[in-house]
Amino acid sequence: MKRKVRMGMVGGGPAAFIGEVHRKAARLDGKIEILAGAFDIDPAQSRKMGEMLCLDPTRVYDTYQQMIEQELKRPDPVDFITIATPNKWHFPIANDCLKAGFHVMCEKPMTLTLNEAVELKKVVEQTGKVFGLMHNYTAYPMVKLARDMVRQGDIGKVLKIVVQYPQGWLIKPIEREGSPQAAWRTDPKQSGAGGCVGDIGTHAANLAEYVSGLKIQEICAELTTFVAGRQLDDDANALLRFNNGARGLLHASQISVGQENNLAIWVHGDKGSLEWHQEDPNELVVCGMDQPVQVWRRGNDYIGRKSPAAARATRIPFGHPEAFLEAFANNYVNFADTIAARIENRAPTEWELDFPGVEQGVRGMAFIETMVASASSDAKWTCLPDFE
Ligand code: NAD
Repeated sequence: MKRKVRMGMVGGGPAAFIGEVHRKAARLDGKIEILAGAFDIDPAQSRKMGEMLCLDPTRVYDTYQQMIEQELKRPDPVDFITIATPNKWHFPIANDCLKAGFHVMCEKPMTLTLNEAVELKKVVEQTGKVFGLMHNYTAYPMVKLARDMVRQGDIGKVLKIVVQYPQGWLIKPIEREGSPQAAWRTDPKQSGAGGCVGDIGTHAANLAEYVSGLKIQEICAELTTFVAGRQLDDDANALLRFNNGARGLLHASQISVGQENNLAIWVHGDKGSLEWHQEDPNELVVCGMDQPVQVWRRGNDYIGRKSPAAARATRIPFGHPEAFLEAFANNYVNFADTIAARIENRAPTEWELDFPGVEQGVRGMAFIETMVASASSDAKWTCLPDFE
């Protein structure tokens, strides 16, 4: 393409957590330029962020509505808008941006409720705009390799999936001690029906479905709130049944002291098993029956021969670790290339289309609501709703 893809942003003000990760990742491959934003709920902080980013002050807005209105009047409006606000804002902002003609990259969980998610899927279909959802963990090269090994039958029929995402940062009531990140995450009006289960359980569920190619069909869950006075769960445990009959275990926690971001997955098939750890993301452990354990390492030529998608998601040679920022960038580069394909009037390739979208967003919201429904009926087995 002769120009960069133009990005605007909602959220990601000076004190925000994930907004700066988006900006760094979007810029990593030089295909995207950040030109506009309504960066903060406080307009003064939005302007401060614009100054920190050396943006044209006329493109730093007080509200996202103002950004939509003013950008549409420009000869060079942004092509897409990233939404990195607390969850309650995702639906109204995505809905307005798509209807105004912008492509959207949205943070997870996609919406506040499943109803909103189903509605947003319709809007994406009706507008025909490109919609990306930032499930960053499925963008690691070794996760793409794992998915391709399962697809190619290397571990046979998938029988069992164990997935975990423990953290420990919410062991104290820091939502009442000035942490803005904890405050909205533990408030159902801003976070939705799930606390920990929505915040990180959705990443674990998405990872299990991505790697296995299966769908979670039924859930038996327990959600617990350990910290007194907290309104939402801070610990989630579930048994899963997948659509091919496979069984699963999922646990997510934000009160597991000492755990940082210990997302990990084990996929067991009738011929072999795979194991991946987010805190050691450059390796995939592969086990076959009656064979020594193999460790596949990112960046080697044999990875690309097995999984072109994994090779495409790799920037630097073996032995130099890649991780979190690069995974965000992998979603951004595929998303931007898909937008570029639209601009160039060509069909995007299969690999360019390899980023999570509205389907995964709807499944994420169905997962949260089913976890909550099962947990509130004393761990009764509960089917995911039929929303397709
Ligand atoms: P945060 O509280 O640190 O930052 C939120 C930002 O959004 C703040 O700058 C706030 O002022 C701004 N904001 C709120 N409402 C706004 C509005 N109406 N218009 C403009 N700006 C607004 O939150 P965070 O931890 O960065 O999380 C943001 C989102 O990202 C959440 O949906 C969260 O679930 C998601 N997240 C995803 C990952 C991941 O790994 N994919 C990691 C962290 C957070």
